[in-house]
Amino acid sequence: MSDTDQREPSLPSTPGLEARLASVRSAVADAAQAAGRSADDLTLIVVTKYHPASLVAELAALGVTDVGENRHQEAQAKAAELADLGLTWHFVGQLQSKKARQVRRYAHVVQSLDRDSVVDAFAPTSEEPEPPVIDGFVQVNLTDDPGRGGVQPGDVDAMVERIVGTGTIALRGVMAVAPLDEEPRAAFARLRSISERVRLAVPTATDISAGMSGDFAEAIAEGATHLRIGTAITGNRPAAP
Ligand SMILES: *Cc1c(COP(=O)(O)O)cnc(C)c1O
Repeated sequence: MSDTDQREPSLPSTPGLEARLASVRSAVADAAQAAGRSADDLTLIVVTKYHPASLVAELAALGVTDVGENRHQEAQAKAAELADLGLTWHFVGQLQSKKARQVRRYAHVVQSLDRDSVVDAFAPTSEEPEPPVIDGFVQVNLTDDPGRGGVQPGDVDAMVERIVGTGTIALRGVMAVAPLDEEPRAAFARLRSISERVRLAVPTATDISAGMSGDFAEAIAEGATHLRIGTAITGNRPAAP
């Protein structure tokens, strides 16, 4: 055997991935500093939807600890393949109530709680009387379009009560996507005031998941604690499989 045969099999390397990750990390640090905040208080979640498990493995090798996925079957397969990497998996997509219990088996955090039926699906059942507790965010709709994901701001309190009532979801805070037709900072400011209201009911629910590739600096300025960044790090997504 030659020396080369003895080496660890190397990961396929995605051109530019390491440089894009470094550049986003440094832009995040700059935005934190500009907001008088510490970058240590921010969790970077790299959204890897549609990308292969090998790209997630590359990110883990570059020090990424948190990844986000938005489709159950894809997320389940990747989490199973990469189970030994110790990653924290965030489910950020629309969830069907009949899939909720399956998501709980591999995801550590569900960020898209926005329907009664989905929340109720996490409650104990006769088959699973003592299910594991999953971390959760209530997703807030910051647009006027009720068809977009998330609960309307006026319905957040009732949703929070329902989530806490399950006894199986540890509410971490609020999550939102900025509207397309509005300056993101104004929308994130509304999210911040909703977060303050949620905290009155659940003092431990202090987190704010906001900020994507195009608007994370604005989100950091408005108190985001969890950034969900995809394409700025991964490059363009492959077409939906
Ligand atoms: C895809 C996605 C992201 C990441 O979006 P980018 O613009 O690629 O950074 C963040 N949050 C949610 C809910 C997503 O579906």
